[in-house]
Amino acid sequence: MKNSVFLAFFLMVSVASFTQSTYIFCGKLIDTEKGNIKEQQTIIVDGNKIIDVVSGYQTPKNSLDKTIDLKDKVVMPGLIDMHVHIESEHSPHTRLEKYILNDADRAYNSVKFAEVTLLNGFTTVRDLGGTGVNISLAKAIKAGKIKGPRVFTAGKSLATTGGHADPTNGSSRKLIGNPGPKEGVVNSVEDAKKAVRQRYKNGADCIKITATGGVLSVAKSGDNPQFTIEEIKAICETAKDYGMHVAAHAHGDEGMKRAIKGGVKTIEHGTYMSDETMELMKKYDVYLVPTITAGKEVAEKAKVKGFYPEIVVPKALAVGPQIQGTFGRAYKKGVKIAFGTDAGVFEHGINGKEFGYMVEAGMPAIEAIQSATITNAKLLGMGNGLGLIKKGFLADIIAVDDNPTQNIHTMENVVFVMKEGVVYKK
Ligand SMILES: [Zn+2]
Repeated sequence: MKNSVFLAFFLMVSVASFTQSTYIFCGKLIDTEKGNIKEQQTIIVDGNKIIDVVSGYQTPKNSLDKTIDLKDKVVMPGLIDMHVHIESEHSPHTRLEKYILNDADRAYNSVKFAEVTLLNGFTTVRDLGGTGVNISLAKAIKAGKIKGPRVFTAGKSLATTGGHADPTNGSSRKLIGNPGPKEGVVNSVEDAKKAVRQRYKNGADCIKITATGGVLSVAKSGDNPQFTIEEIKAICETAKDYGMHVAAHAHGDEGMKRAIKGGVKTIEHGTYMSDETMELMKKYDVYLVPTITAGKEVAEKAKVKGFYPEIVVPKALAVGPQIQGTFGRAYKKGVKIAFGTDAGVFEHGINGKEFGYMVEAGMPAIEAIQSATITNAKLLGMGNGLGLIKKGFLADIIAVDDNPTQNIHTMENVVFVMKEGVVYKK
């Protein structure tokens, strides 16, 4: 008995003194802080963290250490998408699914969406609205039960009655009930505060509001303002009390102005943003999340008969093609940009297409990558742990075949994915 206790102690001590590190040899490494590319670097990973980054290819110190050869690849931090809907994927059946799917069905579907997102290089996402399954999914990924990106989620979005994200829009009156703040529908300042506190209680990390009409909701307007400024202020002030920021979906200019003045942190889409509103964005330090991919995808799918309900088609054809142009104007005016795609409106996993659209609209490749890494990490309050390959940061590391400054479409084909020191794709 005494001997076995001694042996166990001896084994623990010897394991502790030989921790296994991983040495990653990078032909090219993107420094997202300085915005340049370094040649021949070694990243040393221990557990879930980066413990050093050194010049040249460093030989491992002890025999237990592992090496990963990415000498012919371009390595960068794991990507962050600020706008996804991780538990769903839009299809012609979306309206029907509201009535035939249970949470368990959605949960099983979401496992696949989370995995494909991670395998395409997105190691972190901000989820901007679902049914609440997203909160359980975020927990399951965090606990290591399933593969997926780190998820910061808004839980269920907040809307006003009949607004974009009122879950009962376009449904039979027999089935709609009377959704209130608990379900994410608010119609007063008091409702607004209650809805935010309910999201906090449910386990959300941030708040999403639908400041204007939207393309895919079964309702007429895609751009009218849908909250009063008092309601938005109440939401933002309450969210701040609970350590949460607010993201505002907005296509129309008036709704955007109210959201910015009301205290939101990001404007999603920003389709009909005027020059005056771009100045407001800068003044209030609000970021634009472009979602160009969503714009392109909805405009294409609107041409397929029966893909969307009739009421959605003209909105998709009008709004979709505008988004890229607005992004280009906003970028040139100096509005801060936070990379985000709206995946879920289109198939999960093709998030990397957004880079090509951003570059096409005038943003240099390196800045698009900074937007998807260091900028988004800071917005999520993770500026000291994510978005950069640096000593002490979490080991979220990806690689592509080509130099993205010469071929941005290489971002659509991520060949290596590590999240918190675990390799998911090689
Ligand atoms: Zn969205």
